[in-house]
Amino acid sequence: TPPELIRNFCIIAHIDHGKSTLADRMLQITGVVAERDMRAQYLDRMDIERERGITIKSQAVRMPWQTDDGPSTGSGTVYALNMIDTPGHVDFTYEVSRSLAACEGAILLVDAAQGIEAQTLANLYLALENDLHIIPVLNKIDLPAADPEKYAAELAGLIGGSPDDVLRVSGKTGMGVEALLDRIVAEIPAPKGDADAPARAMIFDSVYDSYRGVVTYVRMVDGQLSPRERVQMMSTKATHELLEIGVSSPEPTPTKGLGVGEVGYLITGVKDVRQSKVGDTITNHRKPATEALAGYTDPKPMVFSGIYPIDGSDYADLREALDKLKLSDASLQYEPETSVALGFGFRCGFLGLLHLEIITERLAREFDLDLITTAPSVTYEVTTDTGETVTVTNPSEYPDGRVAEVSEPVVKVGILLPKDYVGTVMELCQSRRGSLLGMDYLSEDRVELRYNMPLGEIVFDFFDQLKSKTQGYASLDYEPAGSQTADLVKVDILLQGDKVDAFSSIVHRDKAYAYGTMMTERLRKLIPRQQFEVPIQAAIGARIIARENIRAIRKDVLAKCYGGDITRKRKLLEKQKEGKKRMKMVGRVEVPQEAFIAALSGD
Ligand code: GDP
Ligand code: MG
Repeated sequence: TPPELIRNFCIIAHIDHGKSTLADRMLQITGVVAERDMRAQYLDRMDIERERGITIKSQAVRMPWQTDDGPSTGSGTVYALNMIDTPGHVDFTYEVSRSLAACEGAILLVDAAQGIEAQTLANLYLALENDLHIIPVLNKIDLPAADPEKYAAELAGLIGGSPDDVLRVSGKTGMGVEALLDRIVAEIPAPKGDADAPARAMIFDSVYDSYRGVVTYVRMVDGQLSPRERVQMMSTKATHELLEIGVSSPEPTPTKGLGVGEVGYLITGVKDVRQSKVGDTITNHRKPATEALAGYTDPKPMVFSGIYPIDGSDYADLREALDKLKLSDASLQYEPETSVALGFGFRCGFLGLLHLEIITERLAREFDLDLITTAPSVTYEVTTDTGETVTVTNPSEYPDGRVAEVSEPVVKVGILLPKDYVGTVMELCQSRRGSLLGMDYLSEDRVELRYNMPLGEIVFDFFDQLKSKTQGYASLDYEPAGSQTADLVKVDILLQGDKVDAFSSIVHRDKAYAYGTMMTERLRKLIPRQQFEVPIQAAIGARIIARENIRAIRKDVLAKCYGGDITRKRKLLEKQKEGKKRMKMVGRVEVPQEAFIAALSGD
């Protein structure tokens, strides 16, 4: 297809504003998915995506669209529209921005009953940074609660132009979708590139498929790629043979090659997405390009957590499961770790909290593993009194007593909320050591608050607090914004004098006492009485800051049944043994698995 007949676009939206549903309607209206094959959220392939209604990996699909530019003869020009679906969540910003770089235009989709939300803004800013042409669209106009007049004005106020330029559609009924397709052709610029130059193709997604190996999605910028030729990855210089090249429409359809401006997939037989990295440039092996396309960085994990099998004998299975997930998710990091309390496990690094949640859920669901996940932590850079720098991702490795300076990661937070909640939310942000950067009214009752805040304060249940304090009306987005030094300390929890490493946490000095009392109180309720008294203490170094006691009991289960009934006695003994298996010993203290899970679950 010649570039003038190609339009590459993506849909950017806040979660739930209807991106996947609109994509479904486009597939149907352009005829690439037959009516009988249509199912909701056609492009969201992973089960967990469909269930949770979120898009995790982006996908691309090519659709033909005929415009009526012939004078009422019904004949028109057929364009190739490439729609690139982007993940809507902040954790995947790097993937979103790679997808955006593959497009010339973006549909800014906003729920006509909700208005602009935090991720609408975050994604809009990314699109503007990539110089994309923006088409503003209100969705769900079939809803009785829709208020298109109000939100068209809000959108026009945000991106300029008149409220009349804002298209109104319903992804559900299909209303307005044809007009939107026409507008994509009319407004979004055709791709430009040099057909005679060496090939340069940007990888914007890389997916592991158990049958076909790694499927790499690319956007061609210059030159062309053909089947069976050798290609080179510009970041590593590794070369591969192109076994297959094609377009998704939406099922994979092999083609004779891809040229300037086209979007498609290629298969090289590599088995691991790390060999075909999002953001890398692919070029011809024989006549390679000299300069890679802009923008390859390795996504850096922001949030760390220890993952342990509840049953120690599942350790090898856990390792295998992580190895498998890594094939399809290059951003997942892990290394073996041992905990005195929890045994053998892995310290894992994630892009954010949602990423952590998705991985732990997939481990449980697809690999059938029972796991304990320790409280999420961020990366601290510690300078010791001897001038050494240590990177700490696990609180138990904090060089206690030798710390000269600590710095913690900071993020820029954007919160959108109705104006009535501004006071409450400002209080919450201040209590999380946020510093206000600015506040803007998007319309008369919707406000955007911008804060700088330590990431460590956000990973600890900030989102849940924000939702509950605003009846669910606030939305949140954040992006990394460097680091700052802070007065942090490590709080340890001790059971009968023994440190329980899984409960150690790095917190701000002003909050150490609150953390210590919360954990000791919680554990007092969770740990059953033992044959002896068990003190539970919270400490900073050698200094005890909180203390609770579990009183001793004499546990004599057999005393209850008087002599005679031997089978009953045996049953009770069996039951007690069964219970023991689910206990972890911390020194002499028996701690039920459930206590670890409950104490670490943070509510
Ligand atoms: P995404 O998170 O942006 O991909 O949003 P989805 O496409 O998954 O839609 C979120 C929810 O809104 C689903 O329950 C959809 O059925 C619903 N929805 C999407 N578009 C429309 C629409 O045009 N009208 C109505 N009434 N509901 C819609
Ligand atoms: Mg979706």
